[in-house]
Amino acid sequence: EAKGRGPNNHVLFEPEMQAKVSRRAKLEGELRGAIDKGSIGAFYQPLVDLRSGDVCGFEALARWKNEDGEFVPPNVFIPLAEEAGLITPLFQQLLRQACEAARSWPEGMGLSFNLSPVQMEDRMLPTRVIGILDEVGFPPERLELEITENALVSDPDLAAHIMDSLSSRGVQIALDDFGTGYSNLSQLARFRFDKIKIDKSFVAACGTDERQEKVIRAMLGLSRSLHAKTTVEGIEDHRQLAHFVSQGCDLGQGYLLGRPMPAEDVLMYLSDRRQVLATG
Ligand code: C2E
Ligand code: MG
Ligand code: MG
Ligand code: MG
Repeated sequence: EAKGRGPNNHVLFEPEMQAKVSRRAKLEGELRGAIDKGSIGAFYQPLVDLRSGDVCGFEALARWKNEDGEFVPPNVFIPLAEEAGLITPLFQQLLRQACEAARSWPEGMGLSFNLSPVQMEDRMLPTRVIGILDEVGFPPERLELEITENALVSDPDLAAHIMDSLSSRGVQIALDDFGTGYSNLSQLARFRFDKIKIDKSFVAACGTDERQEKVIRAMLGLSRSLHAKTTVEGIEDHRQLAHFVSQGCDLGQGYLLGRPMPAEDVLMYLSDRRQVLATG
């Protein structure tokens, strides 16, 4: 980068900047259009009980195929939706769709759904969520909302209020990507989580680094002492799976256990899996 820099470096970089701005504007326009048309959907990834091996729920992961037929990753379009003020309509649409899909799953199967940090600044969030659950007829106890540490930073009082009011209606709350955000451990104690999800970046290092393993063990201990269940995300191989089973981690998620899949594959996946278990 630095090699093109001159005394007027903003002038030198202008075309590149402009290209970036216009790409972004184009993507934002396409995103707006996709939300209007309701063409953004979700894939569903299994959450597995590490003691029994049973699937106990699925996490909804937003999927957008743009006009060129390419998947735009959620790490790109979710922040874009936040900045463009589109997160609430997108959220409402996706949550409604996910609850409708999850209604056809076996009794008791949970649905996990991600919230963006900016949604924790929306006082109306609990009302919106409960409104959708009522409308679709999905029990609040089967819904789990995942929030990241960063969602608790900007207005912790409001975040705590929103979480309490969702909890009081029976909605479960999970802390996502634990260990990777701006969490302040002294603040963490004031929020009540039903579940803590250990980020996949910790998993990749386990079994190779003794100090990393100690950190993981401490996170599991913290989670347990706060009476939260622990999920580990990003399990890709048997060694990692065995490690977290032996550590007493409650739930697992990752490509080894099941990849995110379209809604129409979920029931088939569950019945195939049951057959595999039954036949050994
Ligand atoms: P997340 O909530 O932590 O979701 C887990 C991510 O890890 C997903 O990426 C999933 O596909 C991926 N993953 C699962 N198992 C494995 C594995 O074994 N190995 C590896 N390398 N990755 C694995 P995805 O779907 O690209 O989503 C990325 C992030 O985008 C999510 O992270 C979440 O923060 C956000 N996101 C996705 N859908 C939504 C949504 O509907 N609303 C909001 N606000 N955020 C969403
Ligand atoms: Mg998540
Ligand atoms: Mg996560
Ligand atoms: Mg993550």
